[in-house]
Amino acid sequence: MKNIAIIGAGASGISAAIEALRTARETGIPVQVTVYEKLPRICKKILVTGNGRCNLSNRNIALQHYRGNKALVSSVLENRFSDSVGFFSSMSLLTKEESGRIYPKSGNASSVADALRYTCLSLGCKIAVNTPVTEIKRQNGGFLLNSTEFSDVLILACGGAASPVFGSDGSGYELLKMLGHKVTKIRPALNSVKCKGSFLKSLKGIRTDASAVLLLEEKAIFEDAGEIQFTHYGLSGIPIFNLSGLIDNEYAERYKITLDLCREMTPVQLNDFFVKAFKIGKPCAADVLSGLLPKRLGEVVLKRCGISPAEKPEELTVKECAAVAYTLKNFESLVIGTKGFSDAQVTSGGVASEEIDLVTLSSRIADGLYICGELLDADGICGGYNLHFAWTSGRTAGYNAVAGIMNNDKSK
Ligand SMILES: Cc1cc2nc3c(=O)[nH]c(=O)nc-3n(C[C@H](O)[C@H](O)[C@H](O)COP(=O)(O)OP(=O)(O)OC[C@H]3O[C@@H](n4cnc5c(N)ncnc54)[C@H](O)[C@@H]3O)c2cc1C
Repeated sequence: MKNIAIIGAGASGISAAIEALRTARETGIPVQVTVYEKLPRICKKILVTGNGRCNLSNRNIALQHYRGNKALVSSVLENRFSDSVGFFSSMSLLTKEESGRIYPKSGNASSVADALRYTCLSLGCKIAVNTPVTEIKRQNGGFLLNSTEFSDVLILACGGAASPVFGSDGSGYELLKMLGHKVTKIRPALNSVKCKGSFLKSLKGIRTDASAVLLLEEKAIFEDAGEIQFTHYGLSGIPIFNLSGLIDNEYAERYKITLDLCREMTPVQLNDFFVKAFKIGKPCAADVLSGLLPKRLGEVVLKRCGISPAEKPEELTVKECAAVAYTLKNFESLVIGTKGFSDAQVTSGGVASEEIDLVTLSSRIADGLYICGELLDADGICGGYNLHFAWTSGRTAGYNAVAGIMNNDKSK
């Protein structure tokens, strides 16, 4: 019987275990699968995903929602394991859809973690918790873990470096390097962004609908819209998360974020609106803007135009009205950097894709090694894309780990 060791009992590692054991049953190949997890429990991160509801996939899975190596992403997304809803229904877990986002029907992330745990245990998977793997050596054509545990085949599913409190502390990259792999530059993604400006303190806690454009040296490189949250240090919310992975913190001063705080009106419509609104007798300029924006935000917009919020509206000039309209459509924040790995939901970058067989996710450097999940050079925007990639790449690695054993046996 061959041993398959999986390092990491997160989304991709447990999916790999399930697919490996199911494939072994179907093909009659005897294998023992052991998952090594450094934390005291498995699937810990899954419990906090989607604010405790686990946004496990999306109806609109497509290449454009991912960053990283596009050839790798399309190979994984287009393979036969890319049916996350089917994967979970095979574990009797039903799902529901909200605006394209897929959640467990129970509305509870623990249902997802439970389904994965029960399924892999019922298939005979061994799970070793409280077992960090810190060292891997090649031995007799297989792998020696922590100088004690031997396995014929190894699947690395340690996650990236984002949110280390849930176990993914970047140690997987060290293990990859021990096995001879290169890792591309990694960055925190799906992260809040720190911005310059004393104005932020007065905006803390405000949420507003806006579109956000990320500019690199004045060139727009990404745009997204939705709810923006102002914090004491900068900006947060899904559109900010989605652009954060593009910010290189080493050169943060090259980036800025421009918010359109009134995206339903064109600049001309907004200008006309102000020319009329400033004449209808509201007590002060800030009261006019409170019809459009949270009051404190309107006050900051006026101050940026050099207008006192207490100014009498009817005294504002046409030029001042135009300045207010312009600032609302182009509310600029200079970037200091993203909040970093401790706050990020995912990691951009990963193992060098040219060192991976993109179909089987096997290593081209170390025979018998497979890599899945966030360790690969792929990351998605918010919306269930990252978990979808984790299940799919995990299942791909698990299936091919067993298929590899079968092919090796045949060729002997
Ligand atoms: C707060 C939060 C919310 C999120 N919400 C969503 C969401 O709703 N939808 C979505 O699609 N994505 C979401 N994500 C992202 C998603 O959770 C990850 O992309 C996904 O879990 C990655 O799966 P993985 O298996 O590669 O890594 P992980 O799930 O991080 O699992 C890696 C596992 O390996 C273990 N490990 C690491 N190193 C070692 C070692 N050396 N030895 C032994 N064990 C080790 C870790 O403890 C961990 O259990 C969220 C992330 C966070 C942090």
